[in-house]
Amino acid sequence: MPRVGFSEWLALTKVVARGQLLRYRGGEQGYTTQFEQNLEKQIGVKHALTVNSGTSALISALAAAGIGPGDEVLVPAYTWVATAIAPLMVGAVPIVVDVNESLTIDPEDIKRKITPYTKAIMPVHMLNLVCDMDSIVAIAREHRLKIIEDACQAVGLTYKGRRVGTIGDAGAYSFNQFKNLNSGEGGAVLTNDDRLFTRARMFHDAGSYTREYSYESNEAPFTGMNFKVSELTGAVLHAQLPKLDPLISRLRARYPIMVKHLSKTNKLRVSPHNDPENAAGLTVILDTAEDAKKFAQNRGVDRLIDTGRHVYTNWRPIMTQRTFDDRMNPWKWAKRDIQYSEDMCSKTLDILSRTCRVSLGPQYPIPFMEWRGRSLLKAVS
Ligand SMILES: *Cc1c(COP(=O)(O)O)cnc(C)c1O
Repeated sequence: MPRVGFSEWLALTKVVARGQLLRYRGGEQGYTTQFEQNLEKQIGVKHALTVNSGTSALISALAAAGIGPGDEVLVPAYTWVATAIAPLMVGAVPIVVDVNESLTIDPEDIKRKITPYTKAIMPVHMLNLVCDMDSIVAIAREHRLKIIEDACQAVGLTYKGRRVGTIGDAGAYSFNQFKNLNSGEGGAVLTNDDRLFTRARMFHDAGSYTREYSYESNEAPFTGMNFKVSELTGAVLHAQLPKLDPLISRLRARYPIMVKHLSKTNKLRVSPHNDPENAAGLTVILDTAEDAKKFAQNRGVDRLIDTGRHVYTNWRPIMTQRTFDDRMNPWKWAKRDIQYSEDMCSKTLDILSRTCRVSLGPQYPIPFMEWRGRSLLKAVS
């Protein structure tokens, strides 16, 4: 995450001085609107809509894309639990798909999990690692599925020259404290589709039928939520956006350095990457779970299976199929009986138990990361 500092503070003081804390009181000159325009330009997408979380962005995108009761949505077995919860909030059910060694959704398992009821794929770009979008787009075209990209953990990252989140029908960013842009809480829906954007904006603002958007006249108002952000969030994001690409550049500069050192041993190997030239996240895979556990005792190294609710077996409400009210339970409306089990994605569990994330230390100078690479190599050899 970028350092929060003077520029965010200065922007906040201006909002407070103006005394208009609602984003739609800020108008076209408001920080939130300016942030959206700058983000659209920077990442090359037609529409960006700021919302109050990444989870809200996913739900809005699904609702906007017309996903609903009876539909099945493919989600990876390794992701933050919110990815699997989002389809439930629009009445659809998540179907859990293995990840491969790239730590992203496995196109081969996507093909196996498609049924006549499948309506969407949610590829998740985990840990700044990007999905195999070429294969996913091809499968989606063949089976007429929507793609809702979860780019919450890869804000700003590119896949073969295009920013993730802008490749599918819609994408979601998160701006919570741990992400590449940080406004504490926050998120964005991204799309090149006018109608999808119109529907997402309606959904995020209780139908927004009181606001006058010129090209929304063809969409009849429908009910929605309040997922709006305040100008305080918009101001922080507007001030912070210029720090995003420099952050990614620092990650990309450190990746080959760490790879250079960690490639000198046969005790581990660097995980395959779906776009190695643009890699900004590093994971390594070891032979056994025990080896990975030992390696994870080093600073800046975490074993992925130990990351709590990112592993499907720890998604308790999903595994037990419990919703806030049993009469609003999408598993009851599914077109077939959906069963989950602890071992339904055992390949994912095996990979996660042997894979460790290695921090690229964007906040540290390069010589320090050279030193850290050498000491990690020593620790594993
Ligand atoms: C953080 C995250 C989310 C949700 O974002 P919030 O802003 O916390 O709601 C969704 N998916 C993934 C993969 C995430 O990492």
